[in-house]
Amino acid sequence: MPLELVTVPCLEDNYAFLVHDADSGETAVIDVPEAGPIKDALAARGWTLSHVLLTHHHWDHVDGLPDLLADHPAKVIGAAADAHRLPPLDLAVAEGDSFTVGSDRFEVLNVSGHTVGHIAFHAPASKLVFTADSLMALGCGRLFEGTPAQMLDSMTKLAALPGDTTVCSGHEYTTTNAKFAATVDPENAALISRTQDIADKRAAGMPTVPSKLQLELDTNPFLRASDPAIARTLDMTGATPLDVFTEVRARRDRF
Ligand code: ZN
Ligand code: FE
Repeated sequence: MPLELVTVPCLEDNYAFLVHDADSGETAVIDVPEAGPIKDALAARGWTLSHVLLTHHHWDHVDGLPDLLADHPAKVIGAAADAHRLPPLDLAVAEGDSFTVGSDRFEVLNVSGHTVGHIAFHAPASKLVFTADSLMALGCGRLFEGTPAQMLDSMTKLAALPGDTTVCSGHEYTTTNAKFAATVDPENAALISRTQDIADKRAAGMPTVPSKLQLELDTNPFLRASDPAIARTLDMTGATPLDVFTEVRARRDRF
């Protein structure tokens, strides 16, 4: 049985996620922007929290943790590289490490760029990846600490996962991301139809997160730095994928 996934909207535009293993009863939350909505989502299902997985140290991903742990003691897992600036960890992990929630193995990927130390969690059996502010729906996180090369490396790693993987990212930024994507990849038919789908979903008050990796590969400009059409639109035909990625990220910052 794959893990059951619940998307939990938090704060203005953050997402936390619950995963639940029905056999063992184990339940993990990925990131804790605030405690209230996560407590409510657990209570509504009668689930007992067993693990907290932290992707990176930013306040909007960790600030609800003390309040959550006060009611729901759980094992806290986060990046060893960021242990000094994360809440206290019970398990400090790095790329290549893995652990289990119920019977599902979670593999740790280093996806630095937004911060240096940002990690993602990939659960291959359930085809889930938790990317927070690295790969996002139609976007990628702003480079607060890392270089374009680091973020491109992170994108390349995530792009290599199976296309039917569900990408659980940290924010509802997709409407703006779609407007931006159209400026660098205007003739991409898959992007045009996804943009309509995003507008329909938001008009109905629905989240656009999570998304399928294959759809990101087809439409997300930050996964398409090798695409000749994007290079052409940017007047960068023949440029390296890193140069194209750097330019796309810089334009997104100014957008
Ligand atoms: Zn962040
Ligand atoms: Fe964030």
